[in-house]
Amino acid sequence: MLSALTEQAYRQLPIALVASLINAFLLVGVLWGGIESTTLLIWSVCLISVTAFRFRTLRGFLDPQRRARVGDAVWGRRFVKGACAAGLVWGGAAIFLFHPSSFTHQVFLAFVLGGMVAGGVPLLSPLGRAYPCFAIPIVLPMTLSMVLVGDRVHLIMGLMILVFGIAMLSSSARVKRLFQDATDMRLRLASSIAEGSALQEMLRIDELTRIGNRRLFEEHLASEWKRADRAGNTLAVISADVDHFKAYNDHYGHPAGDRCLIGIAQAMASTLQRAGDTAARIGGEEFAFVLPQTTLLGAEQVAERIREAVWDLNLPHAASPIADRVTVSLGVASSDHASVASPADLIRASDAALYEAKRRGRNLVATIGP
Ligand code: GH3
Ligand code: MG
Ligand code: MG
Repeated sequence: MLSALTEQAYRQLPIALVASLINAFLLVGVLWGGIESTTLLIWSVCLISVTAFRFRTLRGFLDPQRRARVGDAVWGRRFVKGACAAGLVWGGAAIFLFHPSSFTHQVFLAFVLGGMVAGGVPLLSPLGRAYPCFAIPIVLPMTLSMVLVGDRVHLIMGLMILVFGIAMLSSSARVKRLFQDATDMRLRLASSIAEGSALQEMLRIDELTRIGNRRLFEEHLASEWKRADRAGNTLAVISADVDHFKAYNDHYGHPAGDRCLIGIAQAMASTLQRAGDTAARIGGEEFAFVLPQTTLLGAEQVAERIREAVWDLNLPHAASPIADRVTVSLGVASSDHASVASPADLIRASDAALYEAKRRGRNLVATIGP
């Protein structure tokens, strides 16, 4: 929160510095000849020095290395110090550049200082005491200079400047709250977006195996189908099913069955090499894979790699009639087959191929016929 407000304050600092220099230049130009030139020069040197100091602070803040060296609280204090110094220099103008007799010069000075005080509200309000530190040293001397002239008009003008200053101070407090609320809301929005996308991700992850679930599979299949259709590419799907898994559960128990499924899922997912490939657990001991831009032949090779990866896990399966270890059967289908005209057809075709693999004896890869 503090860092966002500090960032905001520094981001606006260049405007404040340029406005300050332009106003100082105009003020000195108008008062030249009316006020002693040495006084004007000394005041100008003070203002330029303070502006240079604030500019150096700004450069430090913008340099990531120097910025990281001290905390945000220190940069906040440096900003307030700069605003304070600028307030004192402009307040000095209210005393030393106040023409003793020319009403026009006095009004012009009050006009410039009033502009500085008003302009400071949006530029200095984000950070702590920066605005009061800037405005009070300007408003009080200007009020005093007017009141000390002694006549009724100057007295009223002095009071008006004071009232204006108080109004600007309360407006700055309001602006500061607005900055804080906006920053607060931005942070809350960012964290709820992060929470939302984490939730979205969770909705597509299988709780047991941590790979994708049926929802992810169906969404990817639908979007990849459209993409393949547009680009004229082939899309392949692999269906996989653990062989004699009921017997595994009956023999080793359900918790061991769960651990087995986790191992199988990880081994299967790690065989996929392309970024767009998706592995998902779509049911109890059933898995499915979406392979974009893949022909039937390519998908068959991937399926064979998956089968070997599970075989190589060498998870003992004493109750299996076909092998000494856990095995999977796989069915492969691709979108270039004549009978496939939709994502549902593609799933149907790979399921039919899986059924064929089971029928032919399991622990093998089958594809749908020509
Ligand atoms: P087949 O070779 O024909 O596929 O035989 P199978 O026994 O693997 O198939 P079947 O559909 O008869 O049984 C699937 C079994 O998978 C039923 C259930 O015991 C087990 N299973 C399903 N989901 C889970 C799960 O989340 N955890 C565990 N441990 N077992 C599960
Ligand atoms: Mg099954
Ligand atoms: Mg099975």
